[in-house]
Amino acid sequence: MKRIFPLIVISLVLVCSCGEVYRYTDATFYTMSTVVNVISDGDGDFSDIKDFASDFENRVSRTKQNSEIYTLNLGGTAVLSEDTLYILEKSLEIAENTDYAFNPCMGSITELWDITSGKNYVPEYGLVADALEACDINNIRISENTAEVSDGTKVDLGGIAKGYALEKMLEFEISENKDTNVCINLGGNIALSGSSESNRKKDEYGWNVGITNPFDKNTIVGTLKTSDCFIAISGAYERFFEKDGTVYHHIFDPSTGYPAKSDLASTAVINKSGIEGDALSTALFVMGFDKSVEFYKSGVYDFDMILITNDGVIYITEGIASDFTLDADARDLNGKEMSIIKIEK
Ligand code: ADP
Ligand code: MG
Repeated sequence: MKRIFPLIVISLVLVCSCGEVYRYTDATFYTMSTVVNVISDGDGDFSDIKDFASDFENRVSRTKQNSEIYTLNLGGTAVLSEDTLYILEKSLEIAENTDYAFNPCMGSITELWDITSGKNYVPEYGLVADALEACDINNIRISENTAEVSDGTKVDLGGIAKGYALEKMLEFEISENKDTNVCINLGGNIALSGSSESNRKKDEYGWNVGITNPFDKNTIVGTLKTSDCFIAISGAYERFFEKDGTVYHHIFDPSTGYPAKSDLASTAVINKSGIEGDALSTALFVMGFDKSVEFYKSGVYDFDMILITNDGVIYITEGIASDFTLDADARDLNGKEMSIIKIEK
């Protein structure tokens, strides 16, 4: 018997096709300004995941008073816990490797724009320029477990922390039983497990993940059959406002301080590292199509990707191209059928 349980979620649609999943439980809760949904055929106890999520948010959030990052941004110095230190160091490494398309020191810019506040505020150029000066990555110094930032510089781990949290949550869920089929969806960042040796012996295993159509987020462009990986998606279509015909979204170009003018409508990174995937999906969006392809080919990080361009072409890297099925109804902004192009390394 095969169970199929469709789920409409924030930026992906998931249909589980795990073979012989007779019993599963799920939980939905709110953390890190987003919804988490866990589906698992494990023991049904999600308390360790929930406890971790709330403790984690209290440490890394930019806005929660007394979090480690809040303290750092406010007073210029903070002692960091092991998780936060690791994320910060990893984010600095990724910043360097992405030619600063990913920048964890953009807190002054995200705070200025405050995209999700509902105020629909477009700051004057001078304010953006001032805030941008504080985003220099050299303004942050780490010594042992203490971080220091120069006056005005603010750390924002919003583009990477969820990916790390997913890794930890998945670890909790499969620590007792590696055969557990698990899908954790943290606001569109996904962790999947389920193709362990014993599951592989069954007729069918894995998950079908619907990739959201960035031109109509209630539909999908197609499905990816996969498992034992992380999927991170970035796009301008989730957190944004529109003013005088211009869309202002939450992924900023560190070279301008304005929402990135990308030729990509969305980017998805599929890999084995939640933390890298999350940061890289954000970075690819900022880089745009040509640089993203160049970066993928450079092999600095091991990942596959799905890039959807503004003109409705779906580019998929060779490692996952044969696992992707285009949805017959997928249409771009102009109602044109979408097409697929494979990217080789
Ligand atoms: P989401 O958080 O919606 O899943 P992303 O993972 O792409 O989307 O992260 C976007 C968040 O990352 C923003 O809300 C902001 O906090 C932060 N951010 C924005 N631009 C950048 C950037 N260029 N580099 C690093 N972090 C960024
Ligand atoms: Mg990200």
